[in-house]
Amino acid sequence: MSTYDLLIKGGQVAVPYVGTRKLDIGIKGEKIAAIGTDLAEAGAHKTLDASGRCVFPGAVDSHFHIGIYRPFAEDAVSESTSAASGGVTTILSYFRTGRDYLNKVGPFREILPELVGISEKSFLTDFGYHIACMTEEHINEIEWLVAEGGVSTLKYYMFYKLLTLAGATPEAKNYLMIDNAVDFGYLYRFMKEVARVNRIYRKYGKISLSVHCENPEIIQATQAEVKANPSGIPMQDYSNARPPWQEELAINEVAIMARYTDCPVNLLHLSSQKAVEAGLDVARRYPEIPFLLEGTLHHLGLSNEMPLAQNAKVNPPIRSKADVDFLWQSLIEDKIKTVVSDHACPPLERKQGDLWTCMPGFGGTSLMFPVLVTDGYHKRGLPLHRIAEVSSANPARYHNLYPKKGAIMVGSDADLAIVDIDTAKEVTLDNLFTAQQFSPELGMKLKGWPDTTVLRGEVIFDKGNVVARPGNGKYIKRPVALHYDT
Ligand SMILES: [Zn+2]
Repeated sequence: MSTYDLLIKGGQVAVPYVGTRKLDIGIKGEKIAAIGTDLAEAGAHKTLDASGRCVFPGAVDSHFHIGIYRPFAEDAVSESTSAASGGVTTILSYFRTGRDYLNKVGPFREILPELVGISEKSFLTDFGYHIACMTEEHINEIEWLVAEGGVSTLKYYMFYKLLTLAGATPEAKNYLMIDNAVDFGYLYRFMKEVARVNRIYRKYGKISLSVHCENPEIIQATQAEVKANPSGIPMQDYSNARPPWQEELAINEVAIMARYTDCPVNLLHLSSQKAVEAGLDVARRYPEIPFLLEGTLHHLGLSNEMPLAQNAKVNPPIRSKADVDFLWQSLIEDKIKTVVSDHACPPLERKQGDLWTCMPGFGGTSLMFPVLVTDGYHKRGLPLHRIAEVSSANPARYHNLYPKKGAIMVGSDADLAIVDIDTAKEVTLDNLFTAQQFSPELGMKLKGWPDTTVLRGEVIFDKGNVVARPGNGKYIKRPVALHYDT
C-alpha cells in the first residue's frame, strides 16, 4: 500500500500566516495527509518534484461572473479552464436572475439546483455561488439558501436601483425581469434579513452581503459632464465620469445602513484611495459591523496612465498611478484582505464602438499569481506567504470555505498551485487559456506563472497543459462548518 497517492517534494511552500519554507507535502486521496521537511519517497504512488518553485495553496478566486455574457455552460468550461491554468482551484461566482446568466426568474429553491446541476457538468475547478436577491421572495429565501443551498454570501447591486425606480424605461425593467423596485428601502429589508440569518448561523460562519459601491445618481451627473467635455484619453475619461468620491459616498451610505441593521458587508473591488479610506473609516466608526475590503487584480495591475485601450473599461474604473500605489500599500498593510479577478468575459465586439455604451468588464483569473508575484513580491516586497493569504486563505476564511480550502494543513483539501516565481513570460491569449478574445494585459511581461495545479489531490494543469475535464469540479456548500464534517 502506498504511503501517499501524490508526494510534492522540495518546493518552497508559502504557508498562510506562517511563512515560506522548504517542505514536502504528502497527499492521500483528496486531502493533505502529511507535511514535513523530508517525507519518504519510497512508497509514494507518484512524486512531483517542486524544487526551484514555490508551492501555494490553490487560489480561491472569490469574485467571478461565470455565464454573464456568454452561454452559461460554455463559459463555465472555458473560464474555469483559464482559472485552473492560473493556479485557481475554487471559484466563487456571482449569480442573479434576469437577463444574462440563465435568463430566468423565479425562486432560488428551483433555480439554484438547476444552476448547480449545469455547473457540476461544466467546471474544471471547485465552485460556489454568491446570490443576488432581486425580489422580496428571494429575501424570504435567504435562510433556505444558507441552511440548504450552501450559499453564505448575498449580493446587492446599487446600480439596479435606477433601473427599477418610477420613470425607468421598459427596456431597463425588462433587463432585470422584475417589477419591484430594488431601492434603498428594499436594501434595508434585505440587510435586516441577512442580519437575522447571520445571528442564527454565526457560529458556523459569517453570513454577509456583498455590495458594489458606486452611486448611480452621481454617475449620471458626472458622466454627462465628461461626455460634454472629454479629454479623449478613454480610460481617464471613464474614471473621471465615475469619480472616486462617488465610491466614497456609496460606501458610507451602505455602511450606515449596515450599522443600523447589523448586517456584515463585503465592500467589493475598491478601486481608489478614497474608496479604501472610506472602507477603513467606516470599519473604525462601526467596529461591531464586520467589513471586508476587497481588491482586484486589474485595479492593482493597471493604471489609467498606462496606454490602455477601451477594452480596459470596467466598473469601478481603472484609476491613477497614485491610486494603484495606495492600493498596494493597503494590501501590504493587511487592510485590503482579499484579491480577486472579477472575471467577466464580454465578446470582443461588445467591447468596441462607443466608450459610454460598450460593455464593462474583462477576465483575468489566470493572472492571479503573475500580478501578485510580479508587482507584489518582486516590485514591492510583498512576502510570498502574504500572497498565499490574499489569494487563498483570506478569501476562504471570509467566505466560509476555511480550512477545507485555503489552508496548507493536514486534513485540508489538497488544492495547490506550483509556481515559477522567477521566469518572465509575455501575456498572450494562448497562455491565458480563456475564450475571451482580448486582454488589457496582452504584451505585458510577468513573472509568477503556475506550471502545475492540483485540485483535491488530482493534477488538473500540468506544464502548460490543462489535463482536467469539464465536470471535475465539485459544488462546495458554505459555511463548510455547517455542511461538512471536517
Ligand atoms: Zn463583479
